[in-house]
Amino acid sequence: MTGHRFDPTILREYDIRGIVGETLHEADANALGRAYAKILTGTGGKSVAVGRDGRLSSPALEAALVAGLSESGVDVIRIGLGPTPMLYFAGHTLGVDGALMVTGSHNPGSHNGFKMMLGKKSLYGENIKRIGTIAAAGDFVSGKGRVTERAVKDAYVARLLQDFRGGKELNVAWDAGNGATGEVLQALTAKLPGKHVLLNEVIDGRFPAHHPDPTEPENLLQIQDTIKRFSCDFGIAFDGDGDRIGVVDGDGNILWGDQLLVVLAREIVAAKPGAQIIADVKASQVLFDEIAKMGGKPLMWRTGHSLIKTKMAETGAPLAGEMSGHIFYADRYYGYDDALYAAIRLLSIASRASESITAMRRRLPAVVNTPELRIPCADTRKFAVIDEVKTRLSRAGAEVSDIDGVRVSANGGWWLLRASNTQAVLVARAEAADRAGLNGLIAQLTAQLQESGVAMPPVPTHS
Ligand SMILES: [Zn+2]
Repeated sequence: MTGHRFDPTILREYDIRGIVGETLHEADANALGRAYAKILTGTGGKSVAVGRDGRLSSPALEAALVAGLSESGVDVIRIGLGPTPMLYFAGHTLGVDGALMVTGSHNPGSHNGFKMMLGKKSLYGENIKRIGTIAAAGDFVSGKGRVTERAVKDAYVARLLQDFRGGKELNVAWDAGNGATGEVLQALTAKLPGKHVLLNEVIDGRFPAHHPDPTEPENLLQIQDTIKRFSCDFGIAFDGDGDRIGVVDGDGNILWGDQLLVVLAREIVAAKPGAQIIADVKASQVLFDEIAKMGGKPLMWRTGHSLIKTKMAETGAPLAGEMSGHIFYADRYYGYDDALYAAIRLLSIASRASESITAMRRRLPAVVNTPELRIPCADTRKFAVIDEVKTRLSRAGAEVSDIDGVRVSANGGWWLLRASNTQAVLVARAEAADRAGLNGLIAQLTAQLQESGVAMPPVPTHS
């Protein structure tokens, strides 16, 4: 059998992603189906669910993927168009042995890719490398799998609603960003009490309104305007495939991923004192301190949705979150990142609490910090730079955590430098109690980068 070579840039740490017609083609989707089938059948599995997002290239990639799977003897249940967490839901509830999603997540319409589960776990890292090796060798299995279609939207929406605990009625703005959550969002809000203002709820793979990425403030301008115009209690935005959430309070202020996690954690820790709450290494010290103060056990872990999910399963933590807006509930739910489910829990909290989400945000200790800084650095150098910085800092006796890159405590604040797993960049953040402290930290970081021959770009800040 002839082998298939993927463009080396598309096989990434947590998923497969490329530019359609340039680095990613239908032949890749077919070869992925065949190589995935080899891994699946090797573990004794024989059936999968397959879903797709609303990108214009997704139907053709999905068809090629399904063909590759079924030519390898794997039975496929096609669930069709919807968000990534709906596919994860299918993976957990349809009695299948794995699941594959065709999605370019929050990236521009010209991009696309795949997220995968093997059993009930994320398929990532070594297994993605294996997909490349199996395909290159043409080391496939053959057979004739059955292909069926099954709509899961109603069951998924019902499952989301099952955990809604309502109190007072709310007025909420929602922005689906023309992404894959649109239809589910319409069905969900139609059944929720209160007033719901929907933006960009029509799925459109060209993303005409704005980029479907709620971690970029410019993509939240429309929902901020809507909150003001309709006096909404708060607003919720989703990324292109619904595994990341963005929240804006009633004042129009963004609740960053770590601030949202504080709000969500309070309910969990109140019910389960001592509960472990996991957040990634990019999160504010405020988050870890607040979780400890409320009686929970904060755990800092490596950035990356697959890594966080794996750590959660290992520790039994009921809740985890990332700065990037991935929120993971194992409390009453399956432990995967589902922004629609996180929205339901946030709505429940907001409708039952005596205090508004806006007041909860205002009450968080004020700090000044930088957003995520992305510093260009060659793939061949990025990990070496981290090692060099680590060595110099430990020689200098600095207080350093090396869970993921280096996170340095200094000046009553901290700074982080880590190598991106997916791009030729170093990622940095810094946070301090005040502007002067932050400037001191940025100077330290800049000096460390300079010593390793990396130039620091200009630094914007938000408080
Ligand atoms: Zn996403």
